Amino acid sequence: MKKELEFKTESKRLLDLMIHSIYTNKEIFLRELISNASDAIDKYHLLSLTDDTLEKTNEYEIHIEVDKKHRKISISDNGIGMTYDELVNNLGTIAKSGTLEFLQKMKEKEVKETDLIGQFGVGFYSSFMVSKKVQVITKSPFSETAYKWVSEGEESFTVEEAKKESRGTEITLTLRKNEDEEDYDSFLEEYKIRSLVRKYSDYVKYPITMQTESQKPRLDEEGKEIEDEFDTIIQNETINTRTPLWNKPKSEVTDEELNEFYKSTYFDYTDPAFNIWLNIEGALTYRALLFIPSKAPYNLYSEKYEKGLQLYAKDVFVMDKCKDLIPDYLRFVKGLVVSQDLSLNISREILQKNTQLKKIATNLEKKILSELEKTLKNDREKYVKFFQEFGVNLKYGVYDNYGEKKELIQDLLLFKTVNKDEMVTLKEYIEAMPKEQEFILFGSSSSKEAMKASPQMDLVKSKGYDVLVLTDEVDEFMISILHEYDKKQFKSINQGDLNIVDETEKESIKNLETENQDLLSTLKEILKDEVSDVKLSTRLTDSPVCLVSGEGLSFEMEKVINQMPGDKTMKADKILEINPKHALFQAIEDVYLTSKAELANYASVLYNQALLIEGLPIKDPVSFSNKMIALMIKASKSPVHTDDDEQAA
Ligand code: ADP
Repeated sequence: MKKELEFKTESKRLLDLMIHSIYTNKEIFLRELISNASDAIDKYHLLSLTDDTLEKTNEYEIHIEVDKKHRKISISDNGIGMTYDELVNNLGTIAKSGTLEFLQKMKEKEVKETDLIGQFGVGFYSSFMVSKKVQVITKSPFSETAYKWVSEGEESFTVEEAKKESRGTEITLTLRKNEDEEDYDSFLEEYKIRSLVRKYSDYVKYPITMQTESQKPRLDEEGKEIEDEFDTIIQNETINTRTPLWNKPKSEVTDEELNEFYKSTYFDYTDPAFNIWLNIEGALTYRALLFIPSKAPYNLYSEKYEKGLQLYAKDVFVMDKCKDLIPDYLRFVKGLVVSQDLSLNISREILQKNTQLKKIATNLEKKILSELEKTLKNDREKYVKFFQEFGVNLKYGVYDNYGEKKELIQDLLLFKTVNKDEMVTLKEYIEAMPKEQEFILFGSSSSKEAMKASPQMDLVKSKGYDVLVLTDEVDEFMISILHEYDKKQFKSINQGDLNIVDETEKESIKNLETENQDLLSTLKEILKDEVSDVKLSTRLTDSPVCLVSGEGLSFEMEKVINQMPGDKTMKADKILEINPKHALFQAIEDVYLTSKAELANYASVLYNQALLIEGLPIKDPVSFSNKMIALMIKASKSPVHTDDDEQAA
């Protein structure tokens, strides 16, 4: 009995998208159907090894047939097939979480459809980009009957019993007519199908066969060719080479082939930035093909992203995402490892403890890092691009495991600096340091410009010292783990004593501090809930005040930690520094002598200003604003005299 069923909501949306797609790469439908067929054969084969009711065989095939007259193309396999329930569920709903995400992104209009189709591969439904009707006939070895599924891609599909004796699935597309520049006819041409299989599915491990027609001169009874008469020879020909790329001699594989392999295997639509090919022979024999994408995948930093390399044992596929082959901080590397030594039916648990695998992983890591080093040295532009996409991962690499890997990674880091337009390595920074500069200076800021303008830069700027500008959340944590580079310690311009001013200067500020001890401790008392200390600054030249943190947690770290879920009690030590050379200091001294109550207002305004400059939130903006206004009104009544005024007078 024929049944009509509705597609699930998401499926409808995806189908609608496919039908109206303006994606220029519609040809990928063939890749998707062949890959489904290959998966179905994999599934059957695996099951047949353990299920005695299933026939054991090695005769697998994916067959393509074209019926030009009726505009049909069919792809059949002798894989696992589908039962009635599987058919309804698998083809009536979207199972793949990736595809659901795809739809979500589309809805949010973050990305263009055309950018996404290539990135995700939208599976079976992509056939609706080229077809007006799709028919699936399938038989599962676990089902008595075969079923037929038909849809024109609109609201619903039909399912009914069908005739099919042998196990597997046959998908028949009825192609659309050519319209608006779209050429669907070409998919009916043998040469086109051959070239698509070669491009996308050449390494599919099962034979992809196609009926090919060729003409041969007809022979007479004596075996002589008859002029102008031909016989049509129909052959079933295998059109994929099936030789895995990695088994070809390296010298015979072009970069273009590698790029195509990368794109079709890892569903990217841009060529990789790096490809690394390893042929290792010796105590351990293995091959590896590694790729670094040009662009970070959209989900690289989401929890759903799974790192890992594909693992093959003696050319047989073992695992899709072998995590143990790649460290976390290189999670963006894609590729595969083919080992000649691993046994085929190795389990995941054993793999984790496998020493061979560990050795391979260590080698791969070294190789990738040395490739990056080479690029940093010889092709700076390419490296900078890489670093902009993936540098943050390297920084986490330094930070992870208490800096276990820092020696390996630190020379690959690039930093923005206040004085330079180009990013620099730590080595370059140190080489450019003036002799007397003691520390590697850094500061956290949203931008170079903001940092240049910050009060903490006063003295540093006047000395001409360069400062690393940190913009990523992980940066300060990474620096605290690095601690030093080439025997030079890192020092934040917002933290502690920079040791920049000379001894006499220090001495004079110390004296000033002693002279003003009462004033400073009164200020400290007024602000006791806000700051841990009030000091005269050795780092300010032009600015009146600034906030710095003590030696422990920095403001930036406090910000980052407080953005994380959970415990929010971590606070950086705040120290208010006042510039003794600024006219404002004189004003404070005056107020201190005339009115203690007024001093409290001054202290509070000063502190809040310092917070604002630091990009930290102020607790009570209304009270701050009221105090400012009161001060302004007062100032207008008894204008402050400055040197300029006196000169003018
Ligand atoms: P994906 O293959 O990525 O899971 P698809 O939309 O392409 O997503 O296919 C949905 C499901 O339909 C598959 O997971 C599989 O269970 C089933 N399927 C598709 N093609 C075949 C086939 N040729 N043989 C058996 N099952 C298939």
